[in-house]
This record gives sequence, structure tokens and C-alpha cells, in this order.
Amino acid sequence: MPTARPPELKQRADLRARIDQARTRRDAEGLRRIRRVVVRRDGAGCEVADGDGGSRWVLDFCGNDYLGLSQQFAVVNALQDTAAREGVGGIASHLVCGHHAAHAALESELAEWLGYERAVLLGSGFAANLAVVQSLLGEDDLCVQDRLNHASLVDAARLAGCRLRRYPHADAEGALRQLKSMPGGAALLATDGVFSMDGDLAPLRKLAIAARLQGALLYVDDAHGVGVHGPQGRGTVAAAGLSSADVPLQMVTLGKALGGHGAAVVGDAAWIDHLVETARPYLYTTALPPAQAAASLAAVRLARREDWRRDKLAGLVARFREGAGRHGLDLMASSTPIQPLLCGSNARALAMALALEQAGFWVAAIRPPTVPEGRARLRITLGALHEPIQVDALVEALARARDRVGDEAAA
Ligand SMILES: *Cc1c(COP(=O)(O)O)cnc(C)c1O
Repeated sequence: MPTARPPELKQRADLRARIDQARTRRDAEGLRRIRRVVVRRDGAGCEVADGDGGSRWVLDFCGNDYLGLSQQFAVVNALQDTAAREGVGGIASHLVCGHHAAHAALESELAEWLGYERAVLLGSGFAANLAVVQSLLGEDDLCVQDRLNHASLVDAARLAGCRLRRYPHADAEGALRQLKSMPGGAALLATDGVFSMDGDLAPLRKLAIAARLQGALLYVDDAHGVGVHGPQGRGTVAAAGLSSADVPLQMVTLGKALGGHGAAVVGDAAWIDHLVETARPYLYTTALPPAQAAASLAAVRLARREDWRRDKLAGLVARFREGAGRHGLDLMASSTPIQPLLCGSNARALAMALALEQAGFWVAAIRPPTVPEGRARLRITLGALHEPIQVDALVEALARARDRVGDEAAA
């Protein structure tokens, strides 16, 4: 009888030991991540399970439902109506038999709203970024990205096998230098419109010039911009006074300000047809449920028309910043509904988040690798369903938490 274990079992044990070690390390560094169970949600309120069989209501200041559309009556109604007629599933991929009238209607509406010829729906923003970069670039090509771009854009370049060069955050001259670093081959300049963990805006006008100078394609991931910024909520590209001539391709998510799920890429017919026919994250996946597309169509129509949601949100952002400034809170330079409060150490961010939860406010402690080492923060998000009095109460609670936690938890 051989005494050694078969090699494949030994490898499995090694792998298990490795993940156990990684978990121990995450615990020690305050990097453990857990999921909280939301039992119910009602507007900005959330009933969250406490893990001991009980639950408590908190005010949600960490979700991305910026316009308050995810529970809006017309949006939910569109989903229910379409589901009642068409069912709840997408049934097949778009190119087999999953492309439905509801998808086509949403694509037309999105293209028209954002000022592009065509749109194509994808299962998520993450998948959309993979689809764009992978279907356009190969190993001889270059993808130039802001250092703080979303993880999905970085992974997209890795998957495409192209050269990935990153420039310092929001540095358009850095972007230009990187574009010049590799002549020959196609170049894509990709940036978030609103940076998801910092809340600041990309310097789109300068990036458009850099891209134009080097003949690169500028691609903007406007996950947090569409619905919130620009005339009729058309996003950061429109807000910067740019159009499809400057930004030939854009990605917008349906899961944030539009309150639903999924994403779309907009561009001219040639770009979009290429994606439809060649992008693997489009070809080899089931279509979004038509009911979801119908809900997003209703959400887009509201987002276009109801300026009061944006106006109210802008008022809340100003109120929050003013209050936080009065209390000397360490805010970052953001004019968007994403208002991070820098904490530094992981331990301090976690202690602050815990103190806030005890006071009835749910804010997320964002830690590495989502943000750089030593830049842990509370990521506070505001939405049109918040009331001014709730924002004031949040500011008070933040100041109290800061005073209580102090610097003692700083590592
Ligand atoms: C959330 C986000 C994505 C991913 O979108 P999903 O639809 O949630 O997959 C992509 N890019 C940015 C900048 C994001 O914030």
C-alpha cells in the first residue's frame, strides 16, 4: 500500500491550506468581508439582520440607487406586467432566441437619450467592460487607463491580452504620455466618468484631446454618472459638453441610478454591431430578462424627465458637504452623490462604520484592495429618497463617531 497521498489530493490540501492562511491574514489586517442580510427595504430604510436572529432598521447611505427608482411604482409595475406576460427568464442568448421587443425598445431609448446611433444591452457593467475591451483589442494593442479605474476595466485589459498602461489618477498629461509610449497598434483610452470610490469626475475634456491627438478611442464607463449628471441625466460625457464624436463608446449601467440590473454600451452602428457579433460576454450568456428591460425602460423615461430627483440630490450633496465642513470632517473633493470620508487605517474605518450602524446609519467601510493601502474610508452615498433632516442627522452621527473613535484605532 503506498503511504503517500495521490498528488491531486495533496494539491487540494495545499490549496485549502493556502486559502485558510489568506483568511487568517485578512482577519488580522481588518480585511475580513462579510455579507449582511437585508430583510426588507422601504425607500431609504433597510431592515438588516443582526446575525442573532433579530434585525434592525437603518438608513441606507451606501447603496447606489441615486434617483430612488428601484422601488418607484411605474418601474416595478413595468417589471410585473412584463413578467406576467413573458415570464421571468431571458430564455436564451440574444443571438439564439433571447432578444425580445422589450430589449430592443430599451436599446433604442438609451441610444436616443445619450445621443448615439445604437446601444447593446449586456448582463452587467462588469460584463460590458470585458466585452468592449476584449472584442476590440488584441496583443499588439494598447489599453491606457486611469489608476483608479474600476476593477472590471483592469480585468478587461488583462483578458484581452493587450498591453495595459496606467496613468496617475485624473492626469490627462499622464494619459497622453502613455498613449505615446507604444506607437503602432490600436489604442483605447478608458476611464470611469465618476470614480466609484472617490466620487470625483474624470477630466473628460482633456482626455478627449489626448485621445484625439494620438488617434486613440476614448471609452467612458459612466456607471455612476448616467442619470445623475448632465442635462436630462445624460451623464458625465454630456455634462462635459462632449458628444459621440469625442467619446465614440460609452458604457452605462442599469443597476445604479436607474435602479435595475444590467448595462448597455452605446456607440455608432459599426462599433455596436461588432460587439453583438463578436463579444464573448455577449454571445455566450443568457439575455437579461425582458421584464428587467421593461423596468429599465420605465426608469430611463423617469430619469430623463424628472429633474426634481437630480435637483433634490444636488441640494442634499451641498447640504452634506456644508454640514461635514462645519464639523471639520475629512471629506474628499467630490461634487457627486458619492461622498467618501477618509479614515486611513482599516481598523478606524471599521470602528467608524460600527459606531454609525449603532446610531442607525448604514455606511460601507471600504478597504484595500478596493482602495489603496492606508486609504480606507467610509463611502457615503446620497440619494433622492433621503430627506434633508436625515442628512443632517448623518453628519451629526459622523462627527460623534469621529470623536468617539478618535485616532486610537489607527494602526
Ligand atoms: C459598478 C461598476 C461597474 C460594474 O457594473 P455592474 O452592472 O454592477 O456589473 C463597472 N464600472 C464602474 C465604474 C462601476 O462603478
